[in-house]
Amino acid sequence: MIIVLKPEASESEVDHIIDRLRDLGLKSQISTGQERTIIGVIGDDRILHNQPLTALPGVESVLPILAPWKLVSREFKKESTIIDVGGVKIGAKQLVIMAGPCAVERLELTVGIAHEVKASGATILRGGAYKPRTSPYSFQGLGREGLDYLVEARKQTGLPVVSEILDTRDIELFLEKADIIQIGARNMQNFELLKEVGAYDKPVLLKRGLSATIKEFLLSAEYIMSRGNQNVMLCERGIRTFETQYRNTLDLAAIPTLKELSHLPVIVDPSHATGKWDLVAPMSKAAVAAGADGLLIEVHSNPECALCDGEESIKPSKFKALMADLKKIAKAVDREL
Ligand code: PEP
Ligand code: MN
Repeated sequence: MIIVLKPEASESEVDHIIDRLRDLGLKSQISTGQERTIIGVIGDDRILHNQPLTALPGVESVLPILAPWKLVSREFKKESTIIDVGGVKIGAKQLVIMAGPCAVERLELTVGIAHEVKASGATILRGGAYKPRTSPYSFQGLGREGLDYLVEARKQTGLPVVSEILDTRDIELFLEKADIIQIGARNMQNFELLKEVGAYDKPVLLKRGLSATIKEFLLSAEYIMSRGNQNVMLCERGIRTFETQYRNTLDLAAIPTLKELSHLPVIVDPSHATGKWDLVAPMSKAAVAAGADGLLIEVHSNPECALCDGEESIKPSKFKALMADLKKIAKAVDREL
């Protein structure tokens, strides 16, 4: 349910409404828009059906939200959310390109790739320190040391960093070292992890699960937002289909669909979506044309020796050429790069 406030509603009237909701066992999420301030009611709001909320001073109207995801929905917030990560605005007119290795490896390699992607126009550095691998015998990531390498790369390049968390017990570490916490596809429905990252303000990049529907994806984002964290971005990274020619099938239709159903920024990961380096460029262009707010691209200076996902990683020279092409597509769809 949404409570739309009168333009002239005073602070004490707003406090009174929030107190009233709290007495009824409900939480409030205030959203200040350009035209109107609204209060999102969080919790089982069926209790409100018999409450004359419009009698409260400052209330203009009370509207039901029909979507099962409430805070995530465009019904709740009409304006697109823009998330500020160290001055990089995600969800604004300017596209955001996050690039870097699948896994953080050696320090010099990480810093070197960071400098190269920055020189080509990337504004966020990606790199996994904790890797969710299918096989227990595959490289599992450098852990805490990997996060330290990302911190060093940020120090040298100024690029904010995004890295994946696997365990709720690592939250303090990620709050300290990462600028964006990534929840990977395999953990999209790890509800304890979603609730944990929801308890802070730290921006979260939530990836779509391997076989998750749009509904399940948005409800996972709702888990995070219902805990208080409003800085959530959605990442389409391909889904499992019957097709075996590539690793996953990039669901391009998800981009405009998510943008219509939700106010959150939509990022596309063409690397995991295809699993093939030569498909990364065409799918990146398609994603921008379809309305993505940004891309998450795996770049490695020596893909054949990469410890993780070398087959889908592009070299810095290819990344540079792709960025030049993306500029043209961005212009055609009224975005900037
Ligand atoms: C990743 O981005 O490093 C990753 C593991 O991706 P996904 O969770 O989409 O498989
Ligand atoms: Mn990878």
